[in-house]
Amino acid sequence: MTTAANPAQTAIVPPARGEPYLLTPGPLTTAFSTKEAMLVDWGSWDGCFRAMTAELRRAVLEIAGGGDAYDCVPLQGSGSYCVEAMLGSLIPRDGKTLVLANGAYGQRIARTLSILGRAHSVIDKGDYLPPRGPEVADALAADPAITHVVVVHCETSSGILNPIEEIAAAVQAAGRKLLIDSMSAFGAVQIDLDRVACEALVSSANKCIEGVPGFGFVVARKTVLAAAKGNSHSLSLDIYDQWDVMNRTGQWRFTPPTHAVAAFLEALRLHKLEGGQPARLARYAGNRDAVVAGLRGLGFETLLADRWLSPIIVTFFSPADPAFKFGQFYDLMKQQGFIIYPGKLTVADSFRVGCIGQVDAHVMRQVVAAAANALASMGVASAAPAAAALNERKLLAA
Ligand SMILES: *Cc1c(COP(=O)(O)O)cnc(C)c1O
Repeated sequence: MTTAANPAQTAIVPPARGEPYLLTPGPLTTAFSTKEAMLVDWGSWDGCFRAMTAELRRAVLEIAGGGDAYDCVPLQGSGSYCVEAMLGSLIPRDGKTLVLANGAYGQRIARTLSILGRAHSVIDKGDYLPPRGPEVADALAADPAITHVVVVHCETSSGILNPIEEIAAAVQAAGRKLLIDSMSAFGAVQIDLDRVACEALVSSANKCIEGVPGFGFVVARKTVLAAAKGNSHSLSLDIYDQWDVMNRTGQWRFTPPTHAVAAFLEALRLHKLEGGQPARLARYAGNRDAVVAGLRGLGFETLLADRWLSPIIVTFFSPADPAFKFGQFYDLMKQQGFIIYPGKLTVADSFRVGCIGQVDAHVMRQVVAAAANALASMGVASAAPAAAALNERKLLAA
């Protein structure tokens, strides 16, 4: 009955031309109408496209909460371009940043700051564990030079969902400023800027809003944007300049990804129709629960303890059975219509299954059936990981 009242709930249909489902954290499987929205060519200077840009900014702010105090600045490029733009534009050149890393994206933030020549230090928790409020408080107390803290909301390399509210509270209590890479969480995991004290967050079109790649956006306090003039190391990645020009002209400074913007507006419409962030979270959590229960039933084990499993992407250890070869497993899954994702861990052998995009629990049960078939064709008797991998997890989580 609830599904009848909410057409988007029933709108999960297989990709139109028989292409596989993308169980990857962006690009991901988009709705047919999102793809269809790209069949028009828009003039970048034209009033229609300027109205589309204004609508995009308004709709993103509505999802972010925080009201009038914040503004949304879209920027061309993939998510990393927008992270670099946020760091380079919003952190003053004489600032010092504490990076909270627990995976590849946190490490990329530290690397970006190194290349920009910006002072920073790193708390590195490895692959398995989240940074916690008390250790952030300790690090800030120990180093008064730190002005900013950067944290990854959902660390997509492992799928860990970091405790953003606890960290925000520690940063605020120490009188420092927080920037959030919410790339793979925004739109699905709640982050209400009315409640979480932060200067800015960054996300992109091709993650939980379910648009296509081409641009990202920084949502930042207007006071922070206004103070960012002259900070940037770069012309094209200058968030202040993009904001200033967009506010004055309604235009992007350089060629905008017009088709990706049109697709994003349709994706935002579907996001709202589905019931916004809470409904999207519920669907993604159902996807996660179905794939985790099903693959555990085959003997697979998750990298993370249940408590830290995000509804965005789940990492599974590779089976210890020598008959298991990831490349072959990947091909067998693809033949059955599912593109999975290799692991991105620094230690254990693993692979990942994304829970986001136009998929539901029914699709996830098909994924599990496909995995069972793939194991059988490879002659893998047990999908259980090496005992050593599990022991390491237990030690680190203790
Ligand atoms: C996807 C993602 C990014 C950006 O990656 P791109 O490949 O540049 O789009 C950054 N941080 C996180 C946490 C991500 O999931």
